[in-house]
Amino acid sequence: MLHDAIIIGGSYGGMAAALQLARARRQVLVVDAGHRRNRFAKHSHGFLTRDGEPPGAIAECAREQLLKYPTVTWIEGTVGSAVAAEDGFQVLLEGGGQHGGRRLVLATGVTDELPDLPGLRERWGASVFLCPYCDGYELERGRLGVLATGAFWFHQAMLIPEWGHTTLFTQGIHHPDAEQRAALAARGVSIEEMPVIAVDGARAMMRLEDGRSIPLDGLFLVPRTRFSSAVVEGLGCVLEDGPMGPFIWTDARRGTSVPGVFACGDAARAAGSVSLAVGDGALAGTAVHQSLIFG
Ligand SMILES: Cc1cc2nc3c(=O)[nH]c(=O)nc-3n(C[C@H](O)[C@H](O)[C@H](O)COP(=O)(O)OP(=O)(O)OC[C@H]3O[C@@H](n4cnc5c(N)ncnc54)[C@H](O)[C@@H]3O)c2cc1C
Repeated sequence: MLHDAIIIGGSYGGMAAALQLARARRQVLVVDAGHRRNRFAKHSHGFLTRDGEPPGAIAECAREQLLKYPTVTWIEGTVGSAVAAEDGFQVLLEGGGQHGGRRLVLATGVTDELPDLPGLRERWGASVFLCPYCDGYELERGRLGVLATGAFWFHQAMLIPEWGHTTLFTQGIHHPDAEQRAALAARGVSIEEMPVIAVDGARAMMRLEDGRSIPLDGLFLVPRTRFSSAVVEGLGCVLEDGPMGPFIWTDARRGTSVPGVFACGDAARAAGSVSLAVGDGALAGTAVHQSLIFG
């Protein structure tokens, strides 16, 4: 069977795209590997009507509603590759299986690559965070830290004091210049130049190389990201460089540089959220539908 669209990635972005197509009674196949980016967090914040709910519950509710539409097919699996074919695209599943679609939507998200520091990974989404709009409020204006990682450390160190007293951990690598030091001082940011060698404790106890420890209620950092699927690069979509990592270039209607391929969610923007992924997905879904009519 040739589907009208194949959506690769069935999380917030992909399901929002699928919903628009389902409501136009189009045949949609969603293939999802089940590794949402926020699966480490107990609560999701900032998405209207679902603020504070478990991220898995939001996704499961969306999936239940989507699967009530008879033209939607769902496969739990991973797309290994996608190639152009005469009538659209063929996607090959890892472990076998091949499916055809007239259009493709890439909603595959990104994967966070955390610095190699003992204790960070276990605390990711619990007391170590990326986004203050998602997790800052619940820290009750407590003791916060920013671990300087990539190019974005100064921006984050200036931003986080909105949510509590902030210490910037430079790791002895990211040295603020005189102007940056003055700006950070004006925001009340303390600067710790001694490298952090581990994070432990119930929240985020920062263990420093010289033996000192600094207790925090929450630590923020900006990790590098990579595409969660090699399908993106395999299709040859034009990419853009974001502050965290590459993302797929799209036009105003979420079409990529490859005709017939659309993209939405974190894979197609510099920084994302559930709300933005849903908005992008809805836009991509209607754009795919109209491209089936108008070309
Ligand atoms: C710790 C943490 C906490 C967060 N908290 C919040 C919050 O409170 N509020 C908020 O708005 N945002 C939050 N975010 C951001 C939010 O998780 C993302 O913006 C959102 O998940 C993006 O949705 P998406 O649909 O683009 O991608 P994702 O949710 O990452 O989903 C991509 C899907 O595609 C699948 N996939 C990938 N490759 C393939 C393939 N080849 N074949 C099949 N399936 C594939 C994946 O398995 C996954 O299910 C948080 C992020 C993190 C890391």
